[in-house]
Amino acid sequence: MAFESLASRLQSTFDKLRGKGKVTEEDVTKAMREVRLALLEADVNFKVVKEFVNRVKERAIGQDVLKSLTPGQQVIKVVNDELTELMGGGQSKLAAATRPPTIVMMVGLQGAGKTTTTGKLANYLRGKQNRKPLLVACDIYRPAAIKQLEVVGKQLNIPVFSMGDKVSPVEIAKAAIAHAKEEHLDYVLLDTAGRLHIDETLMGELQEIKEIAKPNEILLVVDAMTGQDAVNVAESFNNQLELTGVVLTKLDGDTKGGAALSVKSVTGTPIKFVGMGEKMDALEPFHPDRMASRILG
Ligand code: GDP
Repeated sequence: MAFESLASRLQSTFDKLRGKGKVTEEDVTKAMREVRLALLEADVNFKVVKEFVNRVKERAIGQDVLKSLTPGQQVIKVVNDELTELMGGGQSKLAAATRPPTIVMMVGLQGAGKTTTTGKLANYLRGKQNRKPLLVACDIYRPAAIKQLEVVGKQLNIPVFSMGDKVSPVEIAKAAIAHAKEEHLDYVLLDTAGRLHIDETLMGELQEIKEIAKPNEILLVVDAMTGQDAVNVAESFNNQLELTGVVLTKLDGDTKGGAALSVKSVTGTPIKFVGMGEKMDALEPFHPDRMASRILG
């Protein structure tokens, strides 16, 4: 299960505090030393850890927390609040264009789960929000990618717009948006090309699509299992494209959790959804507060 080791370490640290009638500054410092190690071991960015620990300490020691009737509980509450804040505070919802269709550009490296997530998002929009999505096959370099999206669309009974692999992704995006307008569809989900690594040609192409499609959302799909790499990938994509959100996939696996805890504060981009499995219904809106409670038990 995701966060298992982090959660159990934090819980044992806080179990020691919870029961105490009196908590000293030294107790807090000691607990925060353990929190620091647990977070670093969970692959959370070191700068993020440092700032987090300092904020918690300041709030826990500086205010009336230690003089309260339940100091242990209060310290844990501070940690909970700060963890929530670290992951973005409130829920970041998907944008909706004032005049449909809303254009969503899905980007990410190969294997992150981009095509699967595009299908899941369409399924979510239709099922939970009663919207009419269109899936668009803009990855013309991997013939299997077009096929994969078509299979997903068929499985979900959601239309797929494709022009094969001889037309440029920019032209495909343009035609798809025109088609969606004609058909009064609400969302256009552009499944763009992925590569194994970030390269200039890919970024150039994505920028071109961005210019033409004027997306309301640019969602980066990253694999939570890749830890700090996921954060680095998010930083690069954000520098080039100005992301509006991140979808963290494979959170059903035994990821240590570092990416979930670092992405927002390193890149300033909120996590909007998380992938919780391979099936088409395994996509959930991301709630920082629920995630924090899950980690703290
Ligand atoms: P793409 O190359 O980025 O388009 O990646 P795909 O959509 O083809 O996904 C790559 C693999 O990751 C596939 O086997 C997916 O089933 C799997 N995958 C995607 N999202 C998740 C997830 O949230 N959890 C799990 N366990 N597997 C996922």
